[in-house]
Amino acid sequence: MMYDTLIIGSGMAGLSAAIYASRARLRFAVVEKEYMGTGQIAYTERVDNYPGYYGTDGFSLGEKFREHAEILGAVFIDGEAVGFQRYDNGWKVMLADGSFLETRTVIYAAGTYPKTLDIAGEKEFSGRGVSYCALCDGAFFADKTVAVIGGGDTALEDALYLSNQAEKVYLIHRRSQFRANKTLQEKAFACKNIELVLDAVPVEIMGTENVTGIKIKQNGTEKAINAEGVFVAVGTIPHTEAVKGTVSLDSGGYIIAGEDCKTSAKGFFAAGDVRTKKVRQVITAAADGANAVISVSEYL
Ligand code: NAP
Repeated sequence: MMYDTLIIGSGMAGLSAAIYASRARLRFAVVEKEYMGTGQIAYTERVDNYPGYYGTDGFSLGEKFREHAEILGAVFIDGEAVGFQRYDNGWKVMLADGSFLETRTVIYAAGTYPKTLDIAGEKEFSGRGVSYCALCDGAFFADKTVAVIGGGDTALEDALYLSNQAEKVYLIHRRSQFRANKTLQEKAFACKNIELVLDAVPVEIMGTENVTGIKIKQNGTEKAINAEGVFVAVGTIPHTEAVKGTVSLDSGGYIIAGEDCKTSAKGFFAAGDVRTKKVRQVITAAADGANAVISVSEYL
């Protein structure tokens, strides 16, 4: 079967695209790597900035998006898209199991995944005290001391979430200015069991069986901070391995595309966190899903 469009990814952008594609009466399906997935939003404890859903948790918001897409008839295909081949009037989407799907256009909404620090001890202690998901692993650190690394929205959200479970949270940031939004900063600064460690660059994660602490370099001096958990929240990397050579990427690996989601390749659109953009939030991912479908409809 030849689809009008295949949506790659079932995060906020992909699900929003599915809602718009069904209303545009396109022949489409959503290809998803994770069965019944909703993308990275599922790992966010609280979402206070998506209009109409104040105070929701990310998992529930993701489920709402999915339910909405399903009510409108979205079809999901389990599979990981690993490559794309352009031919006469469309695209072949290669899947990891060796099969392929055919479509006239692609909406690539594969999102991002957490970046690593790449310091000594990080890999070794991953899963033994080093975590990239506060929501998933926070409960293991009840009444313990943890460190969160980073200065963006994720790091501050993680620090606040962990402050409810851990006895103490060190928030370690390599500069003295935070990237995170002001509301999060105010909350974190006011939190009694969050201690800021600023201008501090992580050097090594220490441990024996499990993590025992983190070594940082601050004002030219190395020092150790004791902690049983280290939560790394230092940004994201786009899932663009599968599209290298197919579309133009920027130096950070994001797909170069504007608000219309058009990429350098004909009939290939990029939506959500995976494309070049300034603001990566649920609302901008959802907007991309809509814009991508409008661009697809115009193209078709
Ligand atoms: P981010 O905004 O890119 O922030 C990454 C942080 O990690 C920065 O503070 C950066 O320091 C630091 N960092 C990067 N590499 C490092 C290294 N090697 N060692 C030490 N520190 C390092 O990433 P994010 O917080 O994951 O957010 C990603 C996107 O999702 C953003 O657009 C964000 O707004 C969005 N987001 C939104 C929400 C929300 O609205 N509720 C929640 C989560 C995420 P520098 O500041 O010095 O560069």
